[in-house]
Amino acid sequence: MAPRAVIRAAVKVFVIEIAKNLIKKQKKKKRLWVKDWIRRRNMLGASATLLKEIVSEDPESYKNFMRLSPEKFEELLKMVESKLTKSETWMRSPLSARIKLEINVAPVGDKKKARKRKSNDSEWKSAKEKRLRYSSHSLPVYPTCRHKTKAFQCASLTMLEIRAFQEKFYSEKKKLMQDNFILQFCRAETVMRYRPKNAKHNKKLFQKKFCVLSLEKTHVPVCKNAFMGILGITRRRIDTVINNFVRTSLLAKENRRGDRKTEMYSERKKSVMEFINKFKAIESHYCRGPSERLYLDSTLNIKNVENVHY
Ligand SMILES: [Zn+2]
Repeated sequence: MAPRAVIRAAVKVFVIEIAKNLIKKQKKKKRLWVKDWIRRRNMLGASATLLKEIVSEDPESYKNFMRLSPEKFEELLKMVESKLTKSETWMRSPLSARIKLEINVAPVGDKKKARKRKSNDSEWKSAKEKRLRYSSHSLPVYPTCRHKTKAFQCASLTMLEIRAFQEKFYSEKKKLMQDNFILQFCRAETVMRYRPKNAKHNKKLFQKKFCVLSLEKTHVPVCKNAFMGILGITRRRIDTVINNFVRTSLLAKENRRGDRKTEMYSERKKSVMEFINKFKAIESHYCRGPSERLYLDSTLNIKNVENVHY
């Protein structure tokens, strides 16, 4: 093939390709700025229909839906209207300030998600475990000691009384309440006579006396074993509660969990704050509008700070 013919063929292919591209571009669908159904919002949108109806017919529902009363909404709108309104152009009309505010104020999605859920701590896993821990695990044990003396009258209690006493104890499934319940029905008395078994034993500081509430609301004195069996609690728990009471003469209190660090580091935090306040702060030099934020001097670096400190 002659060189000229080759060039001609190549040009032909090139031109065809350019023509195809041009046709494709022309055929390409024009992108819509606003979809037709959105364009109808001024007539059929929620702001134009639903909200207007609710305001006039059921202001309470409006408040529930918008989290604002109609009056408050209008007040708010007046405050921000000038800032939200955009100028109209020949291309399209902007969203009105009212719609913008309604979109921002109204909850998004379903109602449950819109409101901040209140935490229900009684349903927490730890709370459930705690409730289980401080629930009754078995029926009360009827005292087998058969005490029937002036000091202990364990045998005079009926099963009904024992059951009622145990139910009263477990009616509150909180350690704190139960500990205070234990304190109500026991007391620490000074030891009247002291007869040591051997030299190793120290003198008891006090002796514990227990009683159970009868159906006639009288206190029936019982021995420690009977008291433990009726309430289904351990010797250790009773001893801890009473010993704490004798030592501090305060009611039982919760020592677990809670905020301890704030108290622990308050001094340190205070000294750090004082140190920071030593520096002279300057106002913002940005002209973005009034700001309360203060800035440190730009000449200050870590070395300078150390010099100030020491
Ligand atoms: Zn007894």
